[in-house]
Amino acid sequence: MSSLVIKMATDLVVAQTHAQQLTPDEARELLFSTHATLLALQSQEAVGTSASPGQPSAAVARPDWRSSILRHAITCMECGATFKQLSARHLRTHDLDPRSYRDKYGIPRTQALSARAITAHRRQLAHRIRPWELAHTDRGAASDTAETSSQTPAAQSRKRASSS
Ligand SMILES: [Zn+2]
Repeated sequence: MSSLVIKMATDLVVAQTHAQQLTPDEARELLFSTHATLLALQSQEAVGTSASPGQPSAAVARPDWRSSILRHAITCMECGATFKQLSARHLRTHDLDPRSYRDKYGIPRTQALSARAITAHRRQLAHRIRPWELAHTDRGAASDTAETSSQTPAAQSRKRASSS
């Protein structure tokens, strides 16, 4: 678990180094402080979890998969490697597949094994590639308007009913 924290801290510092051109000394200092901050956050989280009653102790002992899925990366909880998307092919190197990986770490079936940004992007795409739903909605709205303006008997009677 703490190796995951070190990995997270390193990733953050590497990103900062690229963004701000830090010297090695500054980077090291930043790594220490980031790591300390993450550990502090983690221990707060652990306290919060164990303090809440009714939590099965197994769930507390198990590494939290939520911390492995970041906005732009997902960390393999078997080996700590980071990806944009945790592929079935990579999981096979651990004798796992997406299903058994989820089972092992208690990840819900609905949770995509990819970085949050990618999951969100996919969700947008999924919306975009459902033209029939959009078409249906558009047509529904359009026919409502047409019905009212052309004053079909149904619309007229509805109008009468609502005005009386
Ligand atoms: Zn791995």
